[in-house]
Amino acid sequence: MSFTTPVIACTYSEIALKGRNRRAFLRKLVNNMQAALRGMSGVTIHHVESRLLVRLGSETQADEAAARLHRVFGLQWVAPAIEVPRDALDAELAADKSIGIEPRLTGLCDAACLLTAERAGGARNFRVNARRSDRSFGLNSLEIGRIVGAAVHQRCKLAGRMVDPDFTVDVLVLRASVLVFAAKEQSFGGLPACTSGRTMVLLSGGIDSPVAAWMMMRRGSRADFVHFYSGRNVEEADTAKIQQIVRLLAAWSPVTLRLHLVPVVPYEVRAIGTIEDRYDMVMFRRFMVRTAARLARRNKCLALVTGDSLGQVASQTLHNLAAISPDVTLPILRPLVGLDKHEITAWSRRTGLFDASILPYRDCCSIRSPRPILTARGVDLLKLSEDMGLEEAVREAADAAVRVDIPPATTA
Ligand code: ATP
Ligand code: MG
Repeated sequence: MSFTTPVIACTYSEIALKGRNRRAFLRKLVNNMQAALRGMSGVTIHHVESRLLVRLGSETQADEAAARLHRVFGLQWVAPAIEVPRDALDAELAADKSIGIEPRLTGLCDAACLLTAERAGGARNFRVNARRSDRSFGLNSLEIGRIVGAAVHQRCKLAGRMVDPDFTVDVLVLRASVLVFAAKEQSFGGLPACTSGRTMVLLSGGIDSPVAAWMMMRRGSRADFVHFYSGRNVEEADTAKIQQIVRLLAAWSPVTLRLHLVPVVPYEVRAIGTIEDRYDMVMFRRFMVRTAARLARRNKCLALVTGDSLGQVASQTLHNLAAISPDVTLPILRPLVGLDKHEITAWSRRTGLFDASILPYRDCCSIRSPRPILTARGVDLLKLSEDMGLEEAVREAADAAVRVDIPPATTA
């Protein structure tokens, strides 16, 4: 066979739109790709004509490398490919033309047939999608498609079909090589991890907040996590589920993630006998947000993140969201605010967070008194805060925080 290196071909998403900062974003993206491929031998990354080509040490690494690269934010699509050098192809093409025979494109046809045999599965029909980034090649896209398509049709016994085929072989002509790939998969886009500043995510045991964290991470933010637990101390609290969720999120991160575990006891001892049942939920939220803000400042985070979705439960009415934190100056980001529950659940499944998120867990929010007020007023909550000594509760809780470090993972 006349083709050489197995590669993963990737394109980047929004970075292409960046102006002067583009190089810095690209550098970060390449570093993050390297981190994701840590431990795989002989891997090199090259920036070629607006694409990132990951050259692999051996063919057996292709699927594993592609799966890891799917978790690198900033990439638009990722495809295992075969790279055919241009010089041999160009020479063969010139020779075929000079003696007046149909161009053979041997390297391309071999590569396309190999990929089809490996990856077409139960497909019955196919098409070749040829494009030229470098137009100096001696054939146009239609001609390339026709020649490669004929080879796949004959050797792999598949029928050609231009509209909605079962399987597509892509051919992309670059200046120094031609890429042949199949199984091109859309990635998650976004911005490279750790390019957008640090956030403190309020992480519960539910479905929503892990998705909120993931969305902020996808936009390049470096996430710290705070979880409030019931129980007298961290050893007694069962935080295994929360740690498991952070471990899953760590598979999308090139850096160690920090989880801060904070007791709710400082709130509870002060709320008993002071806070009416119907105010308990909103006051408890206030406690969480204020404590998270305190930890955020200590850890140099620029914003808080929650999994709130407008109107989803009583604590998330617009009145309550507006009243809970009149005295918190850090921005509170709510990436799920406009999503329906079924959309959030779909994201949870797509990102692989769902199974861990539905494990049984008794979150401290689920044990609050029922029938909370729906239209709390900020002034009332400030008054109640003074009555119960919220400031002290916040200080005490933040000082009792225990940090767990969760290293980046290459597999989740
Ligand atoms: P989730 O599915 O994330 O638990 P939810 O729909 O259950 O969200 P709530 O329980 O009302 O909603 O919580 C709203 C938000 O408050 C959560 O998304 C999370 O950001 C924060 N939160 C709730 N409980 C905790 C907790 N124990 N520790 C930290 N943050 C919490
Ligand atoms: Mg919850």
